[in-house]
Amino acid sequence: MSARLIDGKALAAQVRAGLAQRVAALAARGVRPGLAVLLVGDDPASAVYVRNKIKACEETGIRSFFAHLPASTTQAELLARVRALNDDAAVHGILVQLPLPAHLDAQQVVDAIAFEKDVDGLHPTNAGLTLAGRPHFRSCTPYGVMTMLDSIGCALAGKHAVVIGRSNMVGKPMAMLLLAADATVTICHSRTRDLAAITRQADVLIAAAGKRNLVTADMVKPGAVVIDVGTNRTPDGRLTGDVDFAAVREVAGAISPVPGGVGPMTIAMLLANTVEAAERSAGLAPMPGASQPRA
Ligand code: NAP
Repeated sequence: MSARLIDGKALAAQVRAGLAQRVAALAARGVRPGLAVLLVGDDPASAVYVRNKIKACEETGIRSFFAHLPASTTQAELLARVRALNDDAAVHGILVQLPLPAHLDAQQVVDAIAFEKDVDGLHPTNAGLTLAGRPHFRSCTPYGVMTMLDSIGCALAGKHAVVIGRSNMVGKPMAMLLLAADATVTICHSRTRDLAAITRQADVLIAAAGKRNLVTADMVKPGAVVIDVGTNRTPDGRLTGDVDFAAVREVAGAISPVPGGVGPMTIAMLLANTVEAAERSAGLAPMPGASQPRA
């Protein structure tokens, strides 16, 4: 039987409609959420991602501040830009589009963003708060995945969740959010032995390796929930995920497609974090550290 489709595009539209209401409530208090986006260089894929994020801001009533800096931008110039945005009260969220040109130190740039404005959730303070089980800004892609799981009523407590990938942006924060939801979590990576033996145990399988067709039908437990984070290009230029969608769909209980799955949700959660940052600045949401650690 064919798996239930988890439609990220439709869910993202719902999330954004909810955000538009919160933006209207902020407007009534004279606050307009602002997201600053810095793009350095001429990577065509990054330009498309940035364009989509700015368009999504506009559609949700969020003000965007966009700066496209030349590939020759120095580390000092980029850090100065970030610091100026940190001090700009109209800017509630700052996003530096990654990857940066090779001569720039991305980690140092991310570290320079005020963690209260780090709506991508990549600053070490935000990563640490997520690790501590009291996230301030959840990293956008894992946050999107959690929202997708929630949307299908996937109760995670006691389930075995397997995450393929251990990057700071996706795999690690994904595992932490699943753990905080009481799943039993296994993290796999390129050195994992017998990946299939582990993925076959997964009630929830998150593929975030960036390897086309890495997850085949024989690697999936019947009825499992499969979320495909990967984005890859086929030789003819089509966007595809890490999961052999057509075959896995016949085994899984629920599955997200690529495109139209995690991608739109990542943008929706970036907007959600920006609105939350604006609400915090207006005193409408708790400030960092206000939540209690889990027992
Ligand atoms: P990344 O930094 O390249 O990390 C990839 C991870 O996958 C690494 O931990 C790597 O292991 C692991 N891996 C690679 N090949 C593997 C294999 N054959 N078996 C098991 N593990 C393997 O990438 P990322 O930033 O986490 O992104 C992952 C994918 O998600 C990419 O395709 C990216 O484009 C996509 N993505 C999509 C969105 C979206 O909004 N849709 C957002 C972010 C990322 P090692 O650590 O051992 O190298």
